[in-house]
Amino acid sequence: MRIGEDALERQRASGGPVLLRGGTVLTMDRAGVIEHGDVLVEGERITAVGQGLPAPESALVIDCAGGIVMPGMVDTHRHMWQTAMRGFGADWTLTQYFVFYYLRWGSCFRPEDIYAGNLLAAIEALDAGVTTTVDWSHGLQSPEYGDAAVAALREVPGRFVLAYGNLLGAPWEWTKAKEFRDFVSRHFSCRDDLLGLQLAFDVTGDPAFPERGAFESARDLDLAVTTHAGVWGATNDTGIRLMSEHGFMTDSVVYVHATTLCEDSYQRIAASGAHASVSTESEQSAGQGYPPTWQLRRHRIPVSLSMDTSVWWSADLFAAMRATLSADRSREHLEAHVKEETVVSNALRAEDVVSYATMGGAAALGLQDRIGSLIAGKRADIVLLKNEHSPAMFPILHPYGHVVFQAGRGDVHTVMVNGRLVKHDHRLIGIDLDKARDVVGRTVEYLQGQLGPESWHEAMNPELPAAELIPNPYTYTDWDGGRAAARQA
Ligand SMILES: [Zn+2]
Repeated sequence: MRIGEDALERQRASGGPVLLRGGTVLTMDRAGVIEHGDVLVEGERITAVGQGLPAPESALVIDCAGGIVMPGMVDTHRHMWQTAMRGFGADWTLTQYFVFYYLRWGSCFRPEDIYAGNLLAAIEALDAGVTTTVDWSHGLQSPEYGDAAVAALREVPGRFVLAYGNLLGAPWEWTKAKEFRDFVSRHFSCRDDLLGLQLAFDVTGDPAFPERGAFESARDLDLAVTTHAGVWGATNDTGIRLMSEHGFMTDSVVYVHATTLCEDSYQRIAASGAHASVSTESEQSAGQGYPPTWQLRRHRIPVSLSMDTSVWWSADLFAAMRATLSADRSREHLEAHVKEETVVSNALRAEDVVSYATMGGAAALGLQDRIGSLIAGKRADIVLLKNEHSPAMFPILHPYGHVVFQAGRGDVHTVMVNGRLVKHDHRLIGIDLDKARDVVGRTVEYLQGQLGPESWHEAMNPELPAAELIPNPYTYTDWDGGRAAARQA
């Protein structure tokens, strides 16, 4: 039976019990997979998980037959402000990204542009079943920009962590500034379950270790630090060593990418009990280094997943799971082939990457007691994958494999955050997408004006490098398949 719009809107606005009935439940906990399973939500929490649960009288009952019920996914690193330029950098390398934001155009973004990007990114995350996102917000040129970022995150009913950063400023300065401290007390003086705060900055490897002041600020304010580490050409082992020697490698640090690092750095990260945030699609395209799960696993460094930025990619954690599993296996095969060996059994399993996307993310944010799995007592952040119109959604034989290799964003049927329905029957509830379209449109128009048509075109279409063509001894005629003639036409 369909649930009426009014009932959905009421549930979103003021709560009320919900019974998710009869799905394949991935608890991501000891109970494993429960076939024909139910999940009962009362208030903000999951109150029961099992088979044949009775529905409280006033409960909305959601039919999950033929679907997969899983914990809401967690993205531990996304530069949400860049979503206003969705897809603009599809053909960029990391160098082109740095030139665009750090050297040329980053400073022309206004607070309203941060707001626009964040608003669209936050809505996109919920729609994709990503119930918690770390907004790695390094475009905050002043606390006024921070206010705009917070306003957007509070407007969308998801769970977010604002990782405050400023790519144009020195973190040892802005973290100590009075205006920044005022910003922190203005927005974060009492604990908010739906909006957390971290500090976001990178460690350059300068032997004078100027970042000390920023780490001290994090300690003063009791905030976790998230940092791009092991990024080819940008941050390296020296940064890790400096953090370690100065006593700032704690278990609350999140190392983003964590690729291109030596054995010693991985050992230091592992020993500190910290977590990594792996952005496989980003690492593959932009060039931070080979996606590192194949190394992190060996060092027992806990992994979470992230999408980095929608200027190339999107909020799609299905893509992250798929790319991560494939990149890990690809590396295992290549390493074996170098030794003339054959991999006969895969070490990384579909279940592992689903765990990275759920419990892995929760643990990286210190939220493992609240979210990341479906057990009684946890906050109800839940996703139902179900799509009766999709030939790819049956049969469901290997539930973890189905999530990773078969399902996608279009199959996200229902999403709950903190016990509230925010999406049902493939439609967002109480979300003003037209407003997001409008503010993003204005930002795009403004940026086009700032850059001018020539720079806009050039930035979006970087020059092709000269291709090295390999002579082929088997071409014994001049026939080229008509390509030369086609070029002249
Ligand atoms: Zn990043």
